[in-house]
Amino acid sequence: MSKKFFIIGNWKMNPETLEKAKDICVVEERAARFARRTSVVICPPYPYLSILAQKKKSIAFGVQDIFYEKEGAYTGSVSASIAKSAGAKFSIIGHSERRATGDTDDIVAKKFLAAFEGGLTPILCIGEKVRDDHGDYFAEVRTQLFSALRAANTYISKPFIIAYEPVWAVGKSYDTALTPEGMNEMVIFIRKSLSQFLEKNKVMKVPVLYGGSVNGENAQTMLTHGGVDGLLIGRQSLDPTGFSHIIKFANSL
Ligand code: PEP
Repeated sequence: MSKKFFIIGNWKMNPETLEKAKDICVVEERAARFARRTSVVICPPYPYLSILAQKKKSIAFGVQDIFYEKEGAYTGSVSASIAKSAGAKFSIIGHSERRATGDTDDIVAKKFLAAFEGGLTPILCIGEKVRDDHGDYFAEVRTQLFSALRAANTYISKPFIIAYEPVWAVGKSYDTALTPEGMNEMVIFIRKSLSQFLEKNKVMKVPVLYGGSVNGENAQTMLTHGGVDGLLIGRQSLDPTGFSHIIKFANSL
């Protein structure tokens, strides 16, 4: 984890064909090739993973979710070891779109642990549903974080990533994204919370990313002034030109 920034693309259930996925990947890989100080990770749909992961040395791959069991009769599910053997190094865990379809904090915590056990680096997504005026949202974020950290307490000296993605900013119009000032405050809060589980030097090594309606423009201000170690990007990661610009900008800092 020695590079300066992580730029991570979450393709969600896109694009609709493997051919289109390959085309996007070729362009993004080219941008990543020259980005020596930035780690680029793409999380495509499962069926594309092993094909895209072949010979793409400059990009690392991740999956968008895993199931917490190691193997067995779980129709439709993918374990950490299956994802790893198909080429994944990372797994998004607890994305708000998975939480919205039933992943509770307990389930997310089990998946977080399963990612470590299966040899993947988890990208733990946390973030409040709504932002109130009293700061209650900090407690919501802390509950999500503590639940996962407690479950994987014996593993958290290994690398993992936190992606702060306020639900109200995910998949919305691009001017909805959190301000860099708001993110600075949240990064401090997250690191302070992490310090209840990890020593200070380890806390500073955990990359804290922002995600939520990032585009080329707000990516620049967030990377420059948001106190972040990178970005988790949904829709813009499917625009190879836009995503490549973000990679190049991150690498220029
Ligand atoms: C995401 O899927 O994690 C995300 C942040 O999406 P978007 O960038 O489209 O808001």
